[in-house]
Amino acid sequence: MFVYDLIVIGGGAAGFFGAITAANEAQLEKILLIEKTGNCLAKVKISGGGRCNVTHHLFDLKNFSAQYPRGKQHLFKLLFQFGPQDTINWFESRGVPLKNEADGRMFPQTDQSISIINCLMQEFENNKIEIKQHATVTDILPTEKYFELTVNEEKLRCKKLLITTGGHPKKEGFDWLSKLGFAIETPVPSLFTFNVKNHSMVSLMGLSVENARVRIDGTKLEETGPILITHWGFSGPAILRCSAWGARKLAEMNYHFNIRVHWLPDLTQDEIREWLEKQRISNAKRAVHSRVFDGIPARLWEHLCNKSQIDANLKWADISSKKLNLLVEAISADLFEIQGKTTFKEEFVTCGGVKLSEIDSNTCMSKKIPNLYFAGEVLDVDGITGGFNFQHAWSSGFVAGKSMKK
Ligand SMILES: Cc1cc2nc3c(=O)[nH]c(=O)nc-3n(C[C@H](O)[C@H](O)[C@H](O)COP(=O)(O)OP(=O)(O)OC[C@H]3O[C@@H](n4cnc5c(N)ncnc54)[C@H](O)[C@@H]3O)c2cc1C
Repeated sequence: MFVYDLIVIGGGAAGFFGAITAANEAQLEKILLIEKTGNCLAKVKISGGGRCNVTHHLFDLKNFSAQYPRGKQHLFKLLFQFGPQDTINWFESRGVPLKNEADGRMFPQTDQSISIINCLMQEFENNKIEIKQHATVTDILPTEKYFELTVNEEKLRCKKLLITTGGHPKKEGFDWLSKLGFAIETPVPSLFTFNVKNHSMVSLMGLSVENARVRIDGTKLEETGPILITHWGFSGPAILRCSAWGARKLAEMNYHFNIRVHWLPDLTQDEIREWLEKQRISNAKRAVHSRVFDGIPARLWEHLCNKSQIDANLKWADISSKKLNLLVEAISADLFEIQGKTTFKEEFVTCGGVKLSEIDSNTCMSKKIPNLYFAGEVLDVDGITGGFNFQHAWSSGFVAGKSMKK
């Protein structure tokens, strides 16, 4: 009876990295990777707009692990074994140097995800790792000596098993793992943009504000950074970070909540008021629309004035105190009703999955079933956008693969 040393279920970033590490570091020989579709590494291919945002240029591991709304402690342990610098070295030593962009995202120098795919495929070939595509694992039976897997009606056996089947938007997608006794955190979407009800800023579509602060009413959620006005509402890093950190809370609110945007987060309301009062004197005869703060684009300023019922031609000297108060409010706590969400660039990231309490973070091995490992998005881990989700796939795949040596 043939028994594989290792079977990996799921041909994504985590599965590939786990299989390669098991061969390189744990010297396992008979390795099979099973993928249900005909496209291994499909997400790697389309990620980062076809460029693959491999990791993030951030080397303080505590700071790196703080970028994961779920799984921070777990990541901290994984990153010590395989962190972003290891990712850079790993790909570079195999002929795929990475480069970083101003915002810290790291891509292959070729700017093409195929470079990453070719590199991983080459490692599979070098290590003679088998791939079985169009094959879905529907059942796992752990026996005393090996695991017996049901794959398209066929039975396959292995001594070690790595599960890297990725996220799933519905809890039922994890039923086959619940059956094995694993506790599942209900999945909900993470990383999405906000739809504004009765979008009054639609004329500002495409406008980007470099530094604004978003607060979500009734929560402690608050993020500062670039915001982009889209034809349906708001996007940009500050919004995406709110959606990731607030994934569960916002799902509970059924994506219906109010946000307040501070368009000049470095100034207090008093400082804004003081500046406006000064304009009433020094620019008394000029139209309000003509004088804007640094940091507020002219089109946004016009919108804020309109929202404060200030006519385009009104002179600074003629602004009533009531309207000035409205303007202070519009600049520092611009209120929007959010109703619904939109997936960010088809980047479906879910939070939820196999609970981290089920595994040992030092090895990624199940606490219940020896020799069964988990890595990647199948676990209840997710990072903010910027390469953090792939880093988790590499780190957890590496730790699982390496631990198979013990
Ligand atoms: C469009 C898009 C862009 C993204 N861009 C980035 C980015 O630039 N940077 C970043 O860090 N993250 C990005 N992400 C997130 C990142 O792609 C994922 O976090 C990462 O791919 C997860 O890897 P994984 O191996 O855990 O799971 P996956 O890549 O989802 O792989 C799981 C594999 O398992 C297979 N499978 C599932 N069930 C079974 C079964 N029962 N039997 C056999 N096979 C099965 C699936 O078909 C799939 O191929 C992006 C995601 C998307 C969708």
